[in-house]
Amino acid sequence: MASSPVKRLNTIAELRAWRKEQGTRTVAFVPTMGALHEGHLSLVMQASGLAEVVIASIFVNPLQFGKNEDFDKYPRVVEQDIELLKSVGASAVFTPSADEMYPTASTFVVEENLTRVLCGAFRPGHFKGVTTVVMKLLNLVQPDIAIFGQKDAQQVLVIEKMVEDLNLPVKIVRGPTIREKDGLALSSRNAYLKPEEREAAPLLFKSLVAAKLAYEAGERDALRLTKIGRAVLEKQPAFQIQYWEIRHPKTLQLLTTIDDEGALMAVAAYLGKTRLIDNILLT
Ligand code: AMP
Repeated sequence: MASSPVKRLNTIAELRAWRKEQGTRTVAFVPTMGALHEGHLSLVMQASGLAEVVIASIFVNPLQFGKNEDFDKYPRVVEQDIELLKSVGASAVFTPSADEMYPTASTFVVEENLTRVLCGAFRPGHFKGVTTVVMKLLNLVQPDIAIFGQKDAQQVLVIEKMVEDLNLPVKIVRGPTIREKDGLALSSRNAYLKPEEREAAPLLFKSLVAAKLAYEAGERDALRLTKIGRAVLEKQPAFQIQYWEIRHPKTLQLLTTIDDEGALMAVAAYLGKTRLIDNILLT
């Protein structure tokens, strides 16, 4: 079956007109920053199964990048992305400019609890940028469903909390993390890795798996599990670990023991100049 073209919407006016045309059809939304890979595409495919119409967005959101982060060098390949979106059956893609999204900006959305730890502790202002842009995108697209990857575990948790706290009329759905054969979670940032860094990169996931195996063998002490995971990563000096932690899967409180509520094991590390994150949810 030939796939129909993806309607590209550059402006808020075009997006609003498109949304109106959808009438009572159910709409699923997949926000992205582009440089799409199989992880993004899996979310779009999941979205197709959950609603009649799927719209993605591609917007490298300046508000969620710190001063010394990779905003300028973040890969931008919109034409290629649109071809990929077409191949997985998206109907439309919203590709606004930064001026379109933030002609002026003095109003922000801030989650003040879950964002204090993990990536929030190392990337000040990052989640304020995320919640603000996602709030704006949800207001603009008005989807029935929005899909986010478990790859960014803290991000999806923060968005779920924002939706609950602010009574947004949208259902948040999580998509599983898609990985390379060697375990490395797909990320647009993997493109930055030098060959020797790419070779070392799967150790990030291996460190989580080592702790998961110990958990499955019966270990419930979070400190001991953390030591097991960290030790795997510390063997490779190319990694500069920011955090390797075990936290409650909903509140993100640090755990001492893992009980029936499970746990989020999350890691962030620099490999050269590239910051990578990964996580495993223990249920
Ligand atoms: P990004 O373009 O990095 O902002 O990501 C857009 C969406 O894709 C977010 O909901 C991410 O969590 C999700 N995502 C990124 N990488 C993956 C992956 N490897 N597997 C599944 N979802 C992913």
